[in-house]
Amino acid sequence: MRASQIFIPTLKETPAEAELISHQLLLRGGFIRRLASGLYTWMPLGLRVLRKVERVVREEMDRSGAQELLMPLVQPAELWQESGRWEQYGPELLRLRDRHNRDFCMGPTHEEVISDLVRREIHSYRQLPVNFYQIQTKFRDEIRPRFGLMRGREFIMKDAYSFHMDHASLEITYQTMYEAYQRTFTRLGLNFRAVEADNGAIGGKRSHEFHVLADSGEDAIVSCHHCDYAANMEKAQSRPETAEAEMPLAAAQVQTPGIRSVAEQAEHLGISTAKIVKTVLVVADGKIIMLLLRGDDELNLVKAGHALNAQDVHLASSAEAVSATGAPLGFIGPKDPLLPISIMADHRAFGVANFSTGANAADLHWINLNWDRDLPRPAAADLRNVRAGDACPHCQEGRLSIRRGIEVGHVFQLGERYSKSMGITVLDETGRDATVTMGCYGIGVSRVVAAAVEQHFDDRGITWPVALAPFEVGIVAINARKSPEVAAAAQALHDRLEAQGYSVLLDDRDERPGVQFATMDLIGLPHRIVVSDKVLAQGVWEYRARRATENVLLDETQLMDTLRKEHPRG
Ligand code: ATP
Ligand code: MG
Repeated sequence: MRASQIFIPTLKETPAEAELISHQLLLRGGFIRRLASGLYTWMPLGLRVLRKVERVVREEMDRSGAQELLMPLVQPAELWQESGRWEQYGPELLRLRDRHNRDFCMGPTHEEVISDLVRREIHSYRQLPVNFYQIQTKFRDEIRPRFGLMRGREFIMKDAYSFHMDHASLEITYQTMYEAYQRTFTRLGLNFRAVEADNGAIGGKRSHEFHVLADSGEDAIVSCHHCDYAANMEKAQSRPETAEAEMPLAAAQVQTPGIRSVAEQAEHLGISTAKIVKTVLVVADGKIIMLLLRGDDELNLVKAGHALNAQDVHLASSAEAVSATGAPLGFIGPKDPLLPISIMADHRAFGVANFSTGANAADLHWINLNWDRDLPRPAAADLRNVRAGDACPHCQEGRLSIRRGIEVGHVFQLGERYSKSMGITVLDETGRDATVTMGCYGIGVSRVVAAAVEQHFDDRGITWPVALAPFEVGIVAINARKSPEVAAAAQALHDRLEAQGYSVLLDDRDERPGVQFATMDLIGLPHRIVVSDKVLAQGVWEYRARRATENVLLDETQLMDTLRKEHPRG
């Protein structure tokens, strides 16, 4: 294709609203344009990239035996009321009303719709297992849409839903999907990692997230440097380490005027934060609970939810904390509470001897408290975020490290979450009604585009992996308007390459060479070939791979060999 036939509105300046490099480069390269918060238009060049992601995803889904269908974006409220999510989902669900005053929503996901379809259409165990997928627009009214395609409100997802007679069958499809995701992200040229994720439910149901590794990622992912253990921060555990024994000292109360935070407390008392047992008040399904953690540990709300068996756990407000404990803010502690309150500790808080904690009175803290001697041990659970350097829970030698990731995919064993509430039953072999079990599998197709750029750029622009590049080869015709030889040779080379199956962008614009090169670098095509009077006179092509720094002069055979090496074709 000629550059004059495809609209590529590049920008010289970095748009002020774009923080992330992918957002900046996708705007600057003319791949996307913003309509409103979290809403983007795919420009011709960007759409070519999106279609390439979709193609790989579709091929791998088809190969795995999943069947493609396409469900409506707008969904009736009744289905969401049946599943219980009309109330649960909150403001991310965009609700609307039609002219007959009926409630609908814009689908943020499609469990309800696919469940309704399957309960109507599938009646016998003989029709299972089955796995349906679609590639489609989703709408989530995200609280903070940002980073361009990374967290849009309208975005494109591949979502698949599988239905099974039993858990063993679900396991098989889950594994198949896991492997399809491995192949998909590998083919897309991404550096990624699959990690164990929390699945909310109790019992042996599994969930994995697929993360593209990038420093800008919103998620913390944990992995062992020694074995293959990897999990996201919500889920990651560490092996408990034995606490050092220490002589108990005499407990005492000390004045700590105006001291509120753990850091201030440590500084004032001249101790490390690891010698503090801090209290965090949370509201778990409406009930206030006091949680205890070692001063240098961070509370993990997802783990707290599991430990307390609660659907919703959030931090208590200052007012809630004060009224539930009767103690002044900053000085709340587990020893001799003023009001009855449930207390739970993180295991690691029990490893601290001679610790300091609030004394439930203004400007007063305890020092040198010891469990059992000074206060009883409450129930304990894993409540903390792991930290880099913690011992791996799976192997003997490994230590955990923490990296940043961008979640691009998620596989999830739903079990009977929807089939129970929505009544999806089929007749089993004995002719009885049996509730089916489900899995779901998502890929953030549009987010993949942004995530790929986060991993593939340099100071000149995007360096697309071959699988994602909007065109594989860029030809820059220098001075083509003035030199008919250059114009003809560039067009002929373009045609030969296209005939061999390459997608080619021929820059035949009437621009200075510097502008042409800058555009090619910015939009990131893997291969650049320069055609000028000078190289034509030498009977060669000037070639440069996007990720290389030097030009090389190649004759036609060498050029074709070079391209073929990176694009093996059947
Ligand atoms: P996140 O934690 O990033 O909000 P999620 O857990 O809500 O993601 P899922 O419901 O599992 O996401 O959706 C499947 C995939 O859709 C995600 O793995 C992600 O790649 C993508 N995705 C989710 N929300 C967005 C969004 N607002 N914009 C773009 N892609 C998204
Ligand atoms: Mg989300």
